[in-house]
Amino acid sequence: MPVVLIATGGTIASTLGPDGRATPTLSGRDLLDRVLPRRTVGVEVVDLPVAGSWNLGTDGAVAVAMAVRQAAADGADGVVMTHGTDVMEETAWTCELLARNAGIPVVLTGSMHHADDPYYDGPKNLADALVAAGDQHAAGRGVMVCMDGELHAARYVTKTHATAVDTFRSANHPSLGLVDGQADDGVVSWSSPGAPRSPLVGDVPGGPVPILMSHWDVDPELVEASRHAGAIGFVVEAGGAGNVNERLVPPLLRAIGAGIPVVVASRCRGGQVEPIYGGPGGFGSLVDHGFVPSAGLTAGKARIALQLLLGPDPDRSTAVATAARWFSELGAQL
Ligand code: ASP
Repeated sequence: MPVVLIATGGTIASTLGPDGRATPTLSGRDLLDRVLPRRTVGVEVVDLPVAGSWNLGTDGAVAVAMAVRQAAADGADGVVMTHGTDVMEETAWTCELLARNAGIPVVLTGSMHHADDPYYDGPKNLADALVAAGDQHAAGRGVMVCMDGELHAARYVTKTHATAVDTFRSANHPSLGLVDGQADDGVVSWSSPGAPRSPLVGDVPGGPVPILMSHWDVDPELVEASRHAGAIGFVVEAGGAGNVNERLVPPLLRAIGAGIPVVVASRCRGGQVEPIYGGPGGFGSLVDHGFVPSAGLTAGKARIALQLLLGPDPDRSTAVATAARWFSELGAQL
C-alpha cells in the first residue's frame, strides 16, 4: 500500500458558511481532488473529522497517533495527515512519542488560508507533504510537519505567527529540509537527519496536567485549586531562562513534596530554561528543589509528555524522579 492520507479537518478542510465563518467541510478525498492527479495515485484516505484542532484533546491526539500506527500495521509506506495548524505541533509531537516506532514517514500538513480564499495554500502543502512522505530518504527522521515548502521535526516545530503562511519554524535547530514541488515528481532537499528518538512513554495519557503561566500577579491559589481538581503534574510557562514568579514557588514546592512533578518551560520560542539566576523564583534556585527543566520543549509539548509519562494512575512515590529522569534523558540528546 503506498501512502495513507489521514484527514482531520482544520483550515485546509474549511469553507465559508452563510455566516461568513470558516468551518471544516471537506473530506480527505475532496482535498486530494485539488492536487495534481499524478501526485495522488494510490493514496488511500482515512477521515477522522475534528471540529477545530483546538478541541482535540490529548485523548484525541492519541487516537490520531493510533490511526498512524494502524496504517503502518496495515502496510502503508507512509502517512500524510491534514490537520489544523493551531495545535499541529502538539499532535505531531504526540505522534512522535507514540508512532515514530512504526518506522514509516509521517508528515503533517495544513493550510493558513481556507478553501474559499483566493490565497488557499492547502493543495500546495498537501502536494508537498505527499512528496515528502514518498521520498526514499524520509524514513528515520521522525514525525514531521510540512508547511510552506519546509519540513520540520515534530519535537522542534512551533507556530510563530497567527496568520502568515510561513508561520512554522524549528526552534533552536535547522529545519529538516525543503520540498521543491515545481519539479515533475517533486524533490526533497534534506538538510538534517531529524531529532533523536525520545525516551519511552506510555500509550494512555493521565491528567489533569495544568499549564500555569508565570506573571507578576499570578494567583498562587491556582496551584491548590488544581491539586484539589486532581492535578498529577504541572507545567509552568516561565519567563526567559525559566524564572518563575516567587508567589508560585511555595505551593509548587508543596506539590513536589507530595509527589507531583513540576516541569518548567520557557515562554520564549528560542533557547531553553537554564539554571542561571538565583534568588526567589530564579530557575537556579528552583532546580535545586526538584523543579524539572523541559529540555527545550514548549509548555504544550511538555504537558503531553508528562501526561503520557505519568499515565492515569501515577505512583506518587516515584513520579517526581521519573519525570526528572525522562526530561534529563531528553535534554541529554540535544
Ligand atoms: N487556524 C487553524 C488551522 O490553521 C484552525 C485549526 O487549528 O483547526 O487549521
